[in-house]
Amino acid sequence: MISADTLNALKTALGPKGWSTDPHELGPHTRDWRGRWQGETPILLKPSSTEEVASVVKICAAARIAITTQGGNTGLVGGSIPQGEVLLSLARMNAVREVDIANDSLTVEAGCILEAIQNLAADHNRLFPLSLGSQGSATIGGLISTNAGGVHVLRYGMMRDLVLGIEAVLPDGRIWNGLRGLRKDNSGYDLKQLLIGAEGTLGIITAATLKLFPRPAEMTVAFAGIPSPAAAVELLGIAKAASGGTLSALELIPRNALEMVIEHIPGSRDPLAAPHPWYALLEIGAGRIGEGRTAMEAALEAGLERGLVEDAVIAESEAQALALWQLREPIAEAEKAHGKAAKHDVSIPVSKIAAFIEEGTALAGAKVDGAEVIAFGHVGDGNVHFNVARKTAGAGEDFVAACLPATEAIYDLVQKYGGSIAAEHGVGTLKAADLAARRPLEVELMTAIKSALDPQGIMNPRVLIPAR
Ligand SMILES: Cc1cc2nc3c(=O)[nH]c(=O)nc-3n(C[C@H](O)[C@H](O)[C@H](O)COP(=O)(O)OP(=O)(O)OC[C@H]3O[C@@H](n4cnc5c(N)ncnc54)[C@H](O)[C@@H]3O)c2cc1C
Repeated sequence: MISADTLNALKTALGPKGWSTDPHELGPHTRDWRGRWQGETPILLKPSSTEEVASVVKICAAARIAITTQGGNTGLVGGSIPQGEVLLSLARMNAVREVDIANDSLTVEAGCILEAIQNLAADHNRLFPLSLGSQGSATIGGLISTNAGGVHVLRYGMMRDLVLGIEAVLPDGRIWNGLRGLRKDNSGYDLKQLLIGAEGTLGIITAATLKLFPRPAEMTVAFAGIPSPAAAVELLGIAKAASGGTLSALELIPRNALEMVIEHIPGSRDPLAAPHPWYALLEIGAGRIGEGRTAMEAALEAGLERGLVEDAVIAESEAQALALWQLREPIAEAEKAHGKAAKHDVSIPVSKIAAFIEEGTALAGAKVDGAEVIAFGHVGDGNVHFNVARKTAGAGEDFVAACLPATEAIYDLVQKYGGSIAAEHGVGTLKAADLAARRPLEVELMTAIKSALDPQGIMNPRVLIPAR
């Protein structure tokens, strides 16, 4: 319970624009994107500078008040929803601090929206390659804290690979300035990597220095009808070889996901003449005009010859390429419109994806009446969104609860194949207990690190490490 004195101290530290207790303003901050978690908070804090973040963290630390940190609130594992904690939003901290083109880096505040950063990089003829369905709302701080992935991990890696430096406010309110734009810095433990993927449990990220890349001369996008996930994995090898390392995405889409998109997302249509059981969306970002198209044609022709591709279309323009991506990016939105589902964001070694999907689908069918598996994702990096939905639309939380035995069985299967139950969305509160049960030593070590940095346990309690 927060005292009136502490509340007043927080309000005074931030001034009238820096906080809110208005239920209308709090509403969207206390409910997650999927509508699975409804939270509550005594106050929303909206600092506008690192110093202000430090001031309020010091006040909370002195009063042993827990803080939930929030960026764009697009997280899918319940980590950004307060359950009585003070809620601290980085939304007002969206300044660009430095553009250093010779160093291929940008230094920006944590509340910057991903799409704005992609555009800023493009304005300087550079690429910031992170790309995902929530890029219009997700923030740099949230993306770093969840070590976000998305569609370009195959070529550029996850957020962990895209961050050169970090500035953070530690759980006692001290500011750590690790904003170094260095590619080589062997000076002991890599503290920034500790904060990346920590889901706000070790401190509040206030700014970051991000890596930029050369912009490909052209992006070649193709959409192929394929017979199976196994064909997608084989096609991946062919496309990688044909493109000489410039393949930037290979996404697997099942027919049922495509149908959901066509039904729920206005303007989308099937680009191929006949239906296929599975689809692969491929993207090549070549350095010279024409090279991408030649490589894509070679990969698809080889795929056709080997029976891995049944039909395919290559985008002839940027607009067509976008339209093809619009069949992949809004799958989560289309699923949401269909109803609630048990979602499993898992990763599997690429070589075992096909076997996992086949066995997992049989398991889910056996465990849940009326279930339909929607398995899609970033095949190029082994990330499968293995979702168990109800065949009929309009399922609610009761359906998700009925899927719990299937979830256990799916996580066992992930373990059998040497995978991870948390691929790119993070652990949050959703998977904290599952992770502790399946990787006890790792969670014990993480708990020791958490205790060293946040001995009072005030940073995002319940997230990542289960409450004791
Ligand atoms: C339609 C849709 C598509 C998506 N697609 C993908 C995808 O392809 N790949 C992928 O990886 N994710 C995806 N996501 C998940 C989500 O967008 C990412 O997890 C994203 O990184 C969250 O960013 P955010 O700013 O919204 O963070 P929030 O949701 O606000 O927070 C996420 C976590 O980070 C912590 N946090 C936030 N900001 C900070 C900070 N400054 N300092 C410390 N901790 C902080 C929060 O406490 C919470 O634990 C998708 C989500 C949606 C809704």
